[in-house]
Amino acid sequence: MIDPKIEQAINDQINQEMTAAYSYLAMAAHFEKANLSGFASWMYQQRLEELTHAMKLYHYLIDRGGDLALKTIENPQKEFGTPLEVFNIALKMEQANTASINQLYKLATEISDYATQSHLKWFIDEQVEEEKSMEDAIAMLELAGDDRSAMLVLNQQMGARQGDPGAPAE
Ligand code: MG
Repeated sequence: MIDPKIEQAINDQINQEMTAAYSYLAMAAHFEKANLSGFASWMYQQRLEELTHAMKLYHYLIDRGGDLALKTIENPQKEFGTPLEVFNIALKMEQANTASINQLYKLATEISDYATQSHLKWFIDEQVEEEKSMEDAIAMLELAGDDRSAMLVLNQQMGARQGDPGAPAE
């Protein structure tokens, strides 16, 4: 049986992943409106990843005999600025998510919940990738600066990210 503290923390983490998915959808809509369909497509992929993260935790919770407690997903930010500003917000979001997963891992360590520690290792590795992809986008956007043609090239490059935006999370 899963410890109630871990159960609650996993439910909170599921909410955090769903919140992130919601935010990336808002960012996608922002890029659609700005006619940057490549950036929008990238954000659809990112949204899908977050839903997959939520589902991984969901299945883990159920497998451990825990109770699912879905919580309210807060309204995401609606108005955004430049692509660089959007990706800076995304990076901060991922950094907060990393901190949250680390906290969950710490809790699992404190109560010697080895199964949860093992499950969370995937998430710890994944967060390295998540932060890196935001940092890479920020670096490219900083290089592009105000150059519109560079922005169009980047838009095309971001749109080449693999995956099907319409695919279900699981
Ligand atoms: Mg995530």
